[in-house]
Order: sequence, then C-alpha cells, then structure tokens
Amino acid sequence: MNQKERTKVLICLAVLAGLFLLTSITRAAVTTTPFSENVPILMYHYIESPTATTSLPGLYLPTAVFANQLQELRRYHANPVFVSEIAASLRSEKKLPPYSMALTFDDGYQDFYTNAFPLLKKYKMKATLYIIINKLDKPGYLTKAELKELAESGLVEIGSHTFNHPDLRALKAKNAKFEIASSKIELEKRLGQLIPTFAYPFGYYAGEQLAIVKAIGYEAAVSVNPGSRHSTQDLFALKRIRPGSRGGSEFVKWLFSWYNSKY
Ligand SMILES: [Zn+2]
Repeated sequence: MNQKERTKVLICLAVLAGLFLLTSITRAAVTTTPFSENVPILMYHYIESPTATTSLPGLYLPTAVFANQLQELRRYHANPVFVSEIAASLRSEKKLPPYSMALTFDDGYQDFYTNAFPLLKKYKMKATLYIIINKLDKPGYLTKAELKELAESGLVEIGSHTFNHPDLRALKAKNAKFEIASSKIELEKRLGQLIPTFAYPFGYYAGEQLAIVKAIGYEAAVSVNPGSRHSTQDLFALKRIRPGSRGGSEFVKWLFSWYNSKY
C-alpha cells in the first residue's frame, strides 16, 4: 500500500466513524423523546336507530351505518385493536401495525349483542366493551350469559365501567374505590379472565379517581377527552373520539384526518 492508498483508507475509516457517531447521537435523541403515538379510539353507545322518546339521539347509530363504517375500515386496511393493546404499545411492550385504531362501546347495551357483535364477527374486527355490572340482566342491557359468550369470542375485550355508573367525583373515596376496584374483581371472577382497562362513567374523573384506577392495577383507562395521539402520560385517561353517524367517504375522511392530528 503506498502513501496515497493509505490516505484513502484513513479517510474512509474517518467517514465511517463519523457516520457511526451520528447515528448513535440520533438514536439517543429519539429514545429520550417521550413516547407517543396516534391510535384513534372510537366511542360508541347504542347500535340501533334512536327511539322516539330518547333525549340523547346522539348516542344512537343505526346498524346499517355501523355496518358501513366497518366495511370502510376493512377497505382502507385499518387495524382495530383492543384498548389493552394500546396500553401495551405505550409501555413499549407491543408494536401496533400501521393505522391501528380501537372500537369501544360503553354501558353494555343489549343491542351490542344483537346488532354490533354479528357485524364484528362478519368483518373480523376487535372491540372493547365497558360493562356496568348492576345493569346486567336488566331490560335493554346484556344478559350475563351473553356477556360470557362475548368475553370468550376472542373479538371482544371486556372492561369495567363500575357497578352503578355514578359520577365518581361526587363519591367519598371509599365508595369510589368500591366502584372501581370491586367491579374489576367481580368481572374477573365472573368471566375467569383479566379485566385490563376501565372507562370513567360519563368520562368524569379528577386526579383522585385517576390515582385509584392506577393503584388498583388496571393497565389503562379511557376518558372522553377528544384526541387520538396518546403519550405514556395519558395511560389512565386515553382520549376518545365520536364517529357520529358519518358513513362512507365522509367517515373515512374524518377518521384519517385524525392520523395527522397533533392532539
Ligand atoms: Zn357510560
């Protein structure tokens, strides 16, 4: 090797060392940034047409429109995941596929079994269902047998929505703890599976209730704070958005606009 060649080799080595240093610095900068990711969590209540007497028509979505929304999710390769999977992803224990999102249903209405579940099966889509224990077997709500079938289907993850659906902020700490902790224990006993996540009734919570949910051992909780970008700090107040009665391209445009959201 002559002098010229030696210089060339030295320059090459210097460039390689420089590149290595640069990637290490970039990697360090990336890993120290708080982890956040965009996973829209859609919130549903009734899957049926609004009743003539309801004061809350906004909570109803006709079954045909819901079917259309699922069809569009399939067509655009969205990936419905359970809320516990979002929690695992935020804890860096699981990697979610692109265009992940979640379907959540509050309160455990009877129409989830009769109208939503057959469509989830048809389109092979996962959903998370938040149950009010004391409403089971009551008119308009799921029966205990239906809940068991849903929990064992592999398509529905069950979460707790308390015993009685109170505004937790109005309760003494002891009573709030009963609603949050005993509902988890009761559902776990009844279904023989872990109840990983919680939904605040009406979306109402303050720091005190959030601390109880965390201390009890839930992995995450959902709120009704609007947004789709969650950070590790949001684990016990994950954001949710309302799809309303949008169908077809309007629904797709709305959902995909959230993937660009900073919130
Ligand atoms: Zn509710």
